[in-house]
Amino acid sequence: MERRAITIRGLVQGVGMRPFVHGLARCCALTGSVRNRLDGIRIEVEGEPPALERFLRELVGQPPPLARIDEVTWEALPVQGEREFQIEPSEIAGTGSIFIAPDAATCADCLAELFDPVDRRYRYPFLNCTNCGPRLTIVTGAPYDRQRTTMAGFTMCAACRAEYENPADRRFHAQPTCCPACGPSLRLLDGNGEPIDTADPLVAFADMLLAGRIGAIKGLGGFHLACDTRSATAVETLRRGKNRDDKPFAVLVADIERAESLCLIGAAELELLRSPGAPIVLLPRRPEANVAEAVAPGNPHLGLMLPYTPLHHLLVHALGRIPLVLTSGNRSDEPIAYENADALARLNGLADCFLVHDRPIHVRCDDSVTRWVGGAEMPIRRSRGYAPQTISMPVDCREPTLALGGQLKCTFAFGRNRRAFLSHHLGDLDHPDAYSAFEKDIALYEDLFAFRPRLLVHDLHPDYVSSRYAQERGLALLAVQHHHAHMASCMAENGRVRPVLGVVFDGTGFGLDGTVWGGEFLVGDLGGFIRAAHLRRVGMPGGEQAIREPWRMAVSQARDAGVPPGLLQNRIPAESFRIVEGMVARNLRCPITSSAGRLFDAVASLIGLRDRVRYEGQAAIELEWAAMTIRSEGSYPFEIEEPRPGEEFPLVVDTRPLVRAVVRDLFKGTEPSRIARRFHSTLVAVIVAVCKRLRSITGLDAVALSGGVFLNGLLFSETITQLEGEGFLVLRHRLVPPGDGGLSLGQLAIAGQKQGPCSLRPETDS
Ligand code: ZN
Ligand code: ZN
Ligand code: FE
Repeated sequence: MERRAITIRGLVQGVGMRPFVHGLARCCALTGSVRNRLDGIRIEVEGEPPALERFLRELVGQPPPLARIDEVTWEALPVQGEREFQIEPSEIAGTGSIFIAPDAATCADCLAELFDPVDRRYRYPFLNCTNCGPRLTIVTGAPYDRQRTTMAGFTMCAACRAEYENPADRRFHAQPTCCPACGPSLRLLDGNGEPIDTADPLVAFADMLLAGRIGAIKGLGGFHLACDTRSATAVETLRRGKNRDDKPFAVLVADIERAESLCLIGAAELELLRSPGAPIVLLPRRPEANVAEAVAPGNPHLGLMLPYTPLHHLLVHALGRIPLVLTSGNRSDEPIAYENADALARLNGLADCFLVHDRPIHVRCDDSVTRWVGGAEMPIRRSRGYAPQTISMPVDCREPTLALGGQLKCTFAFGRNRRAFLSHHLGDLDHPDAYSAFEKDIALYEDLFAFRPRLLVHDLHPDYVSSRYAQERGLALLAVQHHHAHMASCMAENGRVRPVLGVVFDGTGFGLDGTVWGGEFLVGDLGGFIRAAHLRRVGMPGGEQAIREPWRMAVSQARDAGVPPGLLQNRIPAESFRIVEGMVARNLRCPITSSAGRLFDAVASLIGLRDRVRYEGQAAIELEWAAMTIRSEGSYPFEIEEPRPGEEFPLVVDTRPLVRAVVRDLFKGTEPSRIARRFHSTLVAVIVAVCKRLRSITGLDAVALSGGVFLNGLLFSETITQLEGEGFLVLRHRLVPPGDGGLSLGQLAIAGQKQGPCSLRPETDS
């Protein structure tokens, strides 16, 4: 006989690990115990050595579906001779990293129960088990146990308790276990919050939606607004109410069959849709898809998701499986509402009825958005179902470090040793309510993860509220340049520490020289960088206003290139046009930018696609849509200017030949979509040419692609293909968004690198 103490770290709490260990130990005829600790799971097992070996092998080889084992260590202990294997109470003391599981979509077993008329949980909207259900959104502390979730207020009935305590049951130690007799329940309220008396709130709610009304529904991480996708009136009313003029709404589809009737879905995309994270997946929409135009105006994609809680399954069922608009429960860019009273107050006048329940949401969490592009997943928004899964870093944050992200699409992240814990999506911090949510959510995470930061990392931009927050906490600070953080984030998730060529294309970031950067070629590593090349700089007439009005960038680029700005004059009020031309001519109120995003804006406006945007990136997105309709169409000229004599960097990409060619094509009557296509090919050619040039100077052949412009699937996939064709190793985002949602990871990696030498893994470029 032998006895071993085994410690497992990773995502091992709230994922059915203890019951699994219990079952496995019995199966191997071992005695001992298992318990949750703050930083993982500790097992003691005793038995014959071959049985112990088998136990270890299967423990690591076939863990439960939601678990992720990062580290297993064991040591020998004296034999104790006990008779059983037991699950012991959690150990609350101790230090180390706390891991919290993301919320997971309803599993197949639970789904079968949900629609089984003889099951005691038949049509119960809150059923779950060790393999599925709420996690992050209900956790109030660690380690993960019923009393430290928002289910603490519900006392288990005898039947639930029996399942919870039965090692052979799949609800053995499933913390949110409940049933109609003991768990949360639904209520239907009218638009003013008055209860509606109905035998079945869910069916009554579905009937209202079918009648063309707008409903608010409390889901996993917050409230959603819902309406029938086929009702133009309902969708348009919802759009007006949310002040969301053009942004696409997500669509909840009952099943894969319904999804396929709306969109073209590849095998990998199918897997994303069905994954436990159940994200919104951006998919090419079928021309014949029967949804109101206002769901996603002019958009060749639809964002689809499958039901991920029993409540959503029941809802689509009650609706006869029609696709449903399911969009975050907020107005414009405020944070999503997640408390009943707050939702009633904020969505009043917008929602005709509220389907609510009494299980509190502790951590608000929007839906995640993702897509499959260039042979891998590209997260667009990493939130519900993904957060707070950790990401391993190639550097060591020895000091507990909190990285605050940027200003838009903000996430924060904290680093402990070589792990990064990224928050859910917090949205744009411009909104005053978003800022208080930011402060509140940081405090919440610090509490949940018992995290006390010693170092704060923030963007170099002095006016970002996240930077101001950092300054107010009175802790050690590190300011990181925006595009360096983008590059570092791509490096970190690829486990790269050695130098790379960083191609960082985005809308706006504060540059080292105080100008607005955004079309950057960096050479460097996590420790530092040189701005090796950038796009030609032009003025942004009126500063921020030029972001909302791409036509201003069109004027600026055209004047800079010495050509007339197309047919703009016919579309813009004469007075405004004259003022902006004057600003450009006299260089007044024209901050300088090298932004790639602004170049997209300028071209989109020049060719008449969009002069004013209603959401961030809209003009560039529509330029991509136009280009997508054309297969291939040559490209435009550009030049690479030499640096000043005696200096090696920066090279400047002269985009004036490109702008001139665009305008020439325009006057020749070339279709806008062809121009858009050529423009995309030109940018790909620019990237490849500059990277080749930098490779010849530096000898580096690894390229990290980052920045929000690479959310453009066409640009992104062509860039990868061409760079790889030229023998480059391309590092891309798979775990965090290329946009500003990924900044916090890069900031952490840079901070980790600064914390002195660490034991780096050997890296290979293969
Ligand atoms: Zn389940
Ligand atoms: Zn019960
Ligand atoms: Fe950015």
